[in-house]
Amino acid sequence: METKIFQKNEIKMAADTLRQNELVAFPTETVYGLGANATSEQAVKKVFAVKGRPTDNPLIVHVQNFEQVKNYVAQFHPLTPQIVERFWPGPLTLIFKTKPNAFPSVVSAGLSTVSFRMPNHPLTLALIEATGVPLVGPSANTSGRPSPTTSQHVYHDLQGKIAGILEGGATEIGVESTVLDLSDSHRAPMILRPGGVTKEELEAALGMDVLVDPHLVSESEAPKSPGMKYQHYAPSTKVLMIGPTDWEEALNWAQKQQLKVGLQASPEVVRRFQSQAQASYCYADNQVASATKGLFAGLRALDEADLDYIFVATYPETGLGTAYMNRLKKAANQKYFMNN
Ligand code: AMP
Ligand code: MG
Repeated sequence: METKIFQKNEIKMAADTLRQNELVAFPTETVYGLGANATSEQAVKKVFAVKGRPTDNPLIVHVQNFEQVKNYVAQFHPLTPQIVERFWPGPLTLIFKTKPNAFPSVVSAGLSTVSFRMPNHPLTLALIEATGVPLVGPSANTSGRPSPTTSQHVYHDLQGKIAGILEGGATEIGVESTVLDLSDSHRAPMILRPGGVTKEELEAALGMDVLVDPHLVSESEAPKSPGMKYQHYAPSTKVLMIGPTDWEEALNWAQKQQLKVGLQASPEVVRRFQSQAQASYCYADNQVASATKGLFAGLRALDEADLDYIFVATYPETGLGTAYMNRLKKAANQKYFMNN
């Protein structure tokens, strides 16, 4: 099949394609999503097949507004209105217990809960509206690979396998949404995956502590979010995490072993060490938001450069740094230069 690139004046055509239960990738503020009609088992099954996604990893349902969610959920957690008011549209996915048979069971991998998000992207909100049904939208990459932050990344992974891609430029945040479990009305909200909305922001908005899935804190705990157990976000090239004071030692080690390395770091670090590396990907500045925006794009770019290692800068694990490090650790298979 030929994968068509839909421009912003072709949303109606993209919506028609989705209504025919074909797949169209769409831009969001986090990463590109692989869109399919969430009410069609046939369409949703294609998503798993095309991505090579394990069928026990449930999908996020993308909605046009909160009203649309009310069709599928009988009872909401008491904090829902406050959270939706403050964070939607935005990079926050909310898990609710749904009415029986709200969606085909493939959507939620057989769970009695479903996750919902209203993306903050005008083209995709218009696309959902024009389609007239909610859309599932896992990251539009081959399962296990770095998520796509441009339409070119989507094309690279899925060309010929999906009907189209809605062009929306580079995504703003660069990592997936925060997943927040609101399925138990008697329990405080629990973060199952860190993302674009930080724990600190949630706690400030709610004036209370938010729980964190124990597996995010301790490696030995099984994740509550089924998808979090899989290897994720990894390029084919080996990745090593480099702490701020370890660059010199890491590059000396690489040089001694005659290893070809790529650097992925702030402009400061790249400027200082690029003469000792074969390739580099420079974040826009020193801020963690820029690093997060460039994380997957950098891994993809350096993966094309025929290297032995990609050395990637670490950031402190607070605020958005929690999401950045969560993705980077998986891409690096937990390996830091020091304990290599
Ligand atoms: P992706 O679509 O690749 O960004 O992954 C979606 C994430 O949300 C995965 O980690 C899923 O396991 C998680 N998720 C989706 N639905 C649920 C649910 N009903 N319960 C728990 N986690 C979920
Ligand atoms: Mg994904």
